[in-house]
Amino acid sequence: MAYELPPLPYDKAALEPHFDALTMEIHHDRHHKAYVDNLNKSIAGNAALEAKSLEALIGDLGSVPEGIRGPVRNNGGGHWNHSFFWKILAPNAGGAPTGKLADAINSTFGSFSEFQAKFEAAGIGRFGSGWAWLVSHGGKLEIVSTPNQDNPLMGKAVSGVEGKVVLGVDVWEHAYYLKYQNKRADYLKAFWHVVNWAVVARNF
Ligand code: MN
Repeated sequence: MAYELPPLPYDKAALEPHFDALTMEIHHDRHHKAYVDNLNKSIAGNAALEAKSLEALIGDLGSVPEGIRGPVRNNGGGHWNHSFFWKILAPNAGGAPTGKLADAINSTFGSFSEFQAKFEAAGIGRFGSGWAWLVSHGGKLEIVSTPNQDNPLMGKAVSGVEGKVVLGVDVWEHAYYLKYQNKRADYLKAFWHVVNWAVVARNF
């Protein structure tokens, strides 16, 4: 069965003024769609791969034939990363986490604002294109980043990082350039206004 582009769970303009409608439209309807289409093209005719869940596919890239492993890694990662990203965003969101997640953030990073500063630094420090992640690993929270469309699901041997993804932010220029141009730091500040902490807490 072919992988499918999930609809945005809110209107394209719902995250204004933080994430603008045109960026959301291009990001979802063109960039994310291209990852899905190219993933389907790359595994077309391979029934065993086509039968896998997306998580199983990108979580075991070693079982993907070498000739298509690169495209599956890039486009499968792109499909998973964006599907995840849309879900942790919401209109009328932001604020600060509560409950067990807040406790874990405070005990690991000192405070929510120190966590935010470290997470932003991970996004700013990612040279070129990629993602910053908050992962839960062995019960511990950790901030990591990956290049391109890699992610922690791919495992340490592939992506250099591991753990359950709790929060993530896309720092590819296509995620922010129309509104923020070269100011990735401003985009990362805006990100906090649209984080859906209820979903992030469930991920944790
Ligand atoms: Mn993107």
